[in-house]
Amino acid sequence: MDISLDIYSPVQQLQNQLFVDKGLQVYIKRDDLIHPIISGNKWRKLKYTLQEAERQGKHHLITFGGAYSNHLMATAAAAAKFGFKATGFMRGEEVSNDTLFMCRLHGMELIFTDRESYRDKQALFKKHFGDDNDAFFIDEGGASNEGAQGVAELIDELPETYDHIFCACGTGTTAAGIVSGLTNHKLPTIFNGVPVLKGGDFLRKDIDRMLTKSAEYKLHTDYHFGGYGKTTPELVDFIKTFITETGILIDPVYTGKMLYALYDLVAKSHFARGSKILVIHTGGVWGLLGMKERFEF
Ligand SMILES: *Cc1c(COP(=O)(O)O)cnc(C)c1O
Repeated sequence: MDISLDIYSPVQQLQNQLFVDKGLQVYIKRDDLIHPIISGNKWRKLKYTLQEAERQGKHHLITFGGAYSNHLMATAAAAAKFGFKATGFMRGEEVSNDTLFMCRLHGMELIFTDRESYRDKQALFKKHFGDDNDAFFIDEGGASNEGAQGVAELIDELPETYDHIFCACGTGTTAAGIVSGLTNHKLPTIFNGVPVLKGGDFLRKDIDRMLTKSAEYKLHTDYHFGGYGKTTPELVDFIKTFITETGILIDPVYTGKMLYALYDLVAKSHFARGSKILVIHTGGVWGLLGMKERFEF
């Protein structure tokens, strides 16, 4: 089976009076359009991982996630598309929501585990699938060197060179992939990561571990809005306005925080006039469905 997708991810310019006033050109790379469910960075992170499973002759993907995990949903859909079985370990008590509906719809089996045992993923894998030669371990969020290798290909697709690239960070795998891609192409572009978790500086060691070669990059750690999955009325308002003005869906967990950070830094004149900035839309728009009640109309 050929494990690949045709990548459709155009770069579009974002129009806004603020950017005109600050003398900036801002573009968005639409990785959210790659696939409706295997969206954005999740496909890029899975590509070589699935190819490696296939190479080892393993056809049962075992992975991990929280109740709103885009990675779990993407893995379920990718497994269905490319002929794998899939099992997802879920952190926490048995619940049902839109994400898990999508997982089950694509045939993923879910195992709910308490938070304590969820911490040791290798142990969970061993306990349940230790003697199953068909089982293939994929870490939470698709975090791995293969994941970063897949993301690095995003840089091959860029139509021009930018001064800055912005991207939301969870595990940091996507960040590591982009930074490695920039290094491979010897580009002067500065990578700006926006951690969506509180205390995002811890990400540096995770990112550095996945880099092909050490490199400089920036992390803007003040845009977590209280932590992973947390939001504020200010962020919700920003997201409503952005969607209304651009027609591009963004979510409160990842891309909403990243774009908020960008607009805030632009307003604070963080970038030199004449700069070209590219933001990566890493997908995950279904995250909106888990936060509907935060939007008041
Ligand atoms: C998972 C996800 C991320 C985080 O990617 P990492 O590689 O884990 O840093 C960013 N944006 C979206 C939309 C995601 O779903």
